[in-house]
Amino acid sequence: MEKIKMTTPLVEMDGDEMTRIIWTMVKDKLICPYVDLKTEYYDLGLLHRNETKDQVTVDSAKAALKYGVAVKCATITPNKQRMEEYPELTEQWKSPNGTIRSIMGGTVFRTPITVDFIKPTVRTWKKPITIARHAYGDVYKAVDLKTDEPGECFLTFKGESGEEKTISVQKVKGPAVWLAQHNLDDSIRSFAHACFMYAIDQKQDLWFSSKDTISKIYDGEFKAVFEEVFEEYKDRFEELGITYFYTLIDDAIARTIRSEGGYIWACKNYDGDVMSDMISTAFGSLAMMTSVLVTPNGEYEYEAAHGTVTRHYYRYLKGEKTSTNPVATIFAWSGALRKRGELDGLADLMSFADDLEKAVFDTLYAGVMTGDLARIAETDQEVEAVTTEEFIDVIAQRLAER
Ligand code: NAP
Ligand code: MG
Repeated sequence: MEKIKMTTPLVEMDGDEMTRIIWTMVKDKLICPYVDLKTEYYDLGLLHRNETKDQVTVDSAKAALKYGVAVKCATITPNKQRMEEYPELTEQWKSPNGTIRSIMGGTVFRTPITVDFIKPTVRTWKKPITIARHAYGDVYKAVDLKTDEPGECFLTFKGESGEEKTISVQKVKGPAVWLAQHNLDDSIRSFAHACFMYAIDQKQDLWFSSKDTISKIYDGEFKAVFEEVFEEYKDRFEELGITYFYTLIDDAIARTIRSEGGYIWACKNYDGDVMSDMISTAFGSLAMMTSVLVTPNGEYEYEAAHGTVTRHYYRYLKGEKTSTNPVATIFAWSGALRKRGELDGLADLMSFADDLEKAVFDTLYAGVMTGDLARIAETDQEVEAVTTEEFIDVIAQRLAER
């Protein structure tokens, strides 16, 4: 059989621990037998980041901007404990995802992969809900202050023109805490573009929520920018029969719990942090959550939402069999291959990505799954909890049949 050809390389960002083991298995057993895989490879494993003084992470993000599509394995963000575990580290390197995001910009979209036998906590949900989280500013770039005597706090802006604006925050009679936060029109605008483009790409409705009834100027600006940017996309939305809808965050939550799912919910930074954990937990498993970074210029970086699954890796190192779920990693690859196929006009590559995902579903619906899913599966069928490798082997058989 002739392998499927690619014209532009995928930017491949390898990673750490159990997900690095899974990475190789997915490539060797599921992709390379069918695709003449072209990648530009960057090793973002912790030790290689250290050897290159993290230059490899920067280079990989630049390559993602150059070629347009990247696929990333989960990586370790070193903390104090990791510094002890890896004494060769010369610095406590920053989160690769943070570095990549600051170079590429854009918005992260997280979507659960759903199967009938994993029942969402919310009974009405029938289709996945995607969270789009604004990844700049608000409380994450805020300054705060504690004071312990009566007094008054002011907020002052000094313009480069020399113009000054000051407002009183509050007069207090005793100890108090204060917080000042900001956001940028440019960042809000690029968030809005990413959301509208993604909604068109996915052919799904877009919701955006904030609290502009209370935060009239701040959240009011978010609402106004979204409305303005929507004008550019209105016609495409109409053609596709999808809608844009703004509502208050509390109303969005109430509607979400009553909904069937199947839409994209754009959230401000903090709301997105909180809501994405609520959505992923309520859909069943972190191991079944995909994540894609989309820039306003239409560059994409695909990954699994979970980490490197350290606990399983240590069992693997001791020679034990693990039952680590590779589904989100496989979907990161299928997502990236499909997008590459779409951009390069390679129908074969796109249909291979579809087949790969179908082979995963064939396997799961045959009752073959990893332990994390077997534990929560609600089905009359017999369920077989298999090891990581056995699971990938069964997917490979199903894929071969397809
Ligand atoms: P994690 O790797 O997501 O794992 C947390 C726990 O969730 C696991 O111990 C496991 O539970 C379960 N789990 C997650 N993914 C699973 C899968 N595919 N299959 C089966 N079970 C799965 O998070 P963590 O342990 O907090 O973080 C480990 C490392 O990952 C850290 O160094 C962190 O910096 C990094 N991290 C990277 C990214 C990224 O690159 N995007 C994201 C998050 C964290 P049981 O042990 O109970 O089976
Ligand atoms: Mg969080």
